[in-house]
Amino acid sequence: MPHVQTRSSASAGLGFSILFAVAFVASSFLTRRVEMAGAGFTELWPAGGLPIVWLLVRNSRFVGIDTLLLLAAAFTANLNTGSEAEIAAVFAVANVVQSWLAVLLLRRWCPDVWHCGGDRALDSPKVVARFGAALILAIGIGTALASIGAVLLPATGYDSFDATASGLWFGRNLGSALIVVALGIMIGQRVTAPRPRPRLRGEDAGPAELLAATVFTVFAYGLAFSFDELPLAFPLLAATVWFGARFSTLLSAAHSFVVGIVTMMLTLRGIGPFAHVEHADVGFMIAQFYIATIAVTGLAIATGRDERQALADDLRRAQEETAYQGSVRAAVIGSMTEGVLVVDEHGDLLMHNEAAARVLGLGDQLTRQTRFALSSWTVDGVEMTAYERPSARALRGERVDGELMVVKVVDVGDRVLTVSAIPLPRDEVNGRSRAMVLMRDTTHEHANRQELAAFAGVVAHDLRNPLAAIDGWTEMIADELGAGSLDAQMTQEFVSRVRSSSRRMRELIRDLLAHATSSARDLDVSRIDVTAMVNEIAVGRAATGFVSATSIPLVLGDPVLVRQVLDNLIGNALKYVAPGEEPKVVVCGERTDARLVTIEVLDDGIGIPEEDRARVFDEFHRAHYREYEGSGLGLSIVRRIVNRHGGSIEAHPNPAGRGSAFRFTLPAYDA
Ligand code: ADP
Repeated sequence: MPHVQTRSSASAGLGFSILFAVAFVASSFLTRRVEMAGAGFTELWPAGGLPIVWLLVRNSRFVGIDTLLLLAAAFTANLNTGSEAEIAAVFAVANVVQSWLAVLLLRRWCPDVWHCGGDRALDSPKVVARFGAALILAIGIGTALASIGAVLLPATGYDSFDATASGLWFGRNLGSALIVVALGIMIGQRVTAPRPRPRLRGEDAGPAELLAATVFTVFAYGLAFSFDELPLAFPLLAATVWFGARFSTLLSAAHSFVVGIVTMMLTLRGIGPFAHVEHADVGFMIAQFYIATIAVTGLAIATGRDERQALADDLRRAQEETAYQGSVRAAVIGSMTEGVLVVDEHGDLLMHNEAAARVLGLGDQLTRQTRFALSSWTVDGVEMTAYERPSARALRGERVDGELMVVKVVDVGDRVLTVSAIPLPRDEVNGRSRAMVLMRDTTHEHANRQELAAFAGVVAHDLRNPLAAIDGWTEMIADELGAGSLDAQMTQEFVSRVRSSSRRMRELIRDLLAHATSSARDLDVSRIDVTAMVNEIAVGRAATGFVSATSIPLVLGDPVLVRQVLDNLIGNALKYVAPGEEPKVVVCGERTDARLVTIEVLDDGIGIPEEDRARVFDEFHRAHYREYEGSGLGLSIVRRIVNRHGGSIEAHPNPAGRGSAFRFTLPAYDA
């Protein structure tokens, strides 16, 4: 049962004590009519537990005042029920002593209970047992005090205070204390408990059942008290059991309280099974013990049920918590983009997420078998044995941190994975070691890295060539100058060679930059009139007579990049012509698809050998590297830009017979 231990249950004020004292005295007025001749005290004593509740609730700040007040109230109450002054004083002292004793014992034995040091209700049979024991001991001592006092007082003539009278005093006080103190604690705890408060009815007992149990109680008691010659008290316990088993402890205690009062009232009127014992006071005593019995029985059953309920609640909460934790874990692992696998030493797959299946190219068929069917390689192309796999190494206790490996996936090809593997704590229940494997598909990154390395190699090579030429020519200038044989014509010749080399370097650097920016730049698309753009390019290249454009549908693209495409293609078409021939370039286009415009750049130049046609788009690939200058980057830039616009490009022979045709697509403007 969830509860916050607030050890500082506020103690009530002095007004509270006065109220209790008045109630205590008033209750004696109600019951004075039933004082039994001779005993000097009343048998009906519903207020018997009141002083204990009073002292419990007041805590111990005003011990003196409360003790005096209680003494006075008890004296008055005893006088009121017909006792002589001396015997009333003895009983009052016994009352005060037993009440204080009960309070001290309750604080010691039930420190978690409301106003005994904690804030809990009577909520387990163990607590009820301690509660009952405290009251029995305290009231037992009070009874002994009252009995000894009454017998020792010579003048009063209470020689009738015998064992039965002691038993009556004990039974009367115990029955009342068990019910009134229990009820006081249950009500007080409930009223001061934080909301929402527990239901009064049990988990599944409805109002109809409450009505049925009440009707049953009335019926059973009616029956038992009607046939009063027969000892029919025992079936009455069934009502107590019903309330204890099915309703809250508070309702069960209230039930005991009501039937206790009814039992006593009827017994005093000479009605019912307890009234027909030979000696009336023995009958009362039995009735008192009967009440004490139902009080304890009711409390024990109800709190036992509470305890079971609390355990069941705890269990349910724990299960819910576990399920919640599990769902969080599943959501986190499921949403990871990294593949996660947990394997054991037998190779069994204990857990995996969707990303793992995806990374390994296995869709939803990731099992122990499919995993082992994959072959693993190092990036250097050496096949790994099962022993060398990262998972196997982690199962042996090694930590693998972000290593590259290649997995050969059927129908998909090679995948380069970055794999980490971590040993997990051993599963002691099943006696196996476990490891977690984390994998990321780094195929593209790996390819990019390799491409970059190759690119850097070619760049270094291509830049070194013109630089070497510049070095060579300037050295010759220096040599000739040293020999004194450098004339103006030679100088002219050498300088023009140097300038041509430096121009080649500049162009290469420009192309490299364009290549780098063609993929880095964000696309900024707008409407493009390709026909007009072709004409502008022709003007820019001083080639208006060689370039013609038929009307081409509008396209949607990044004007800067599309201009780069057209400029490269037109530049090549003008460049790759046989020496001495005039170039002729035609650019045309049409809508070939709901979304696309196909544009063609046709020339009648030297054409591209068939084996080079697909490869001219690769970086640095040149089909005519001997006769024509160039970097080999132009078409790779063109393809990249076209691809980024969602289009494609191909090289074909010119259908008109001679030269090439570059055919590419771009998004139509109105699509
Ligand atoms: P570059 O022109 O700088 O060499 P490109 O990437 O633009 O580089 O072209 C790659 C190769 O494709 C060229 O070296 C050339 O061999 C071939 N090529 C490109 N355009 C044409 C064309 N219109 N006619 C013939 N060959 C061409």
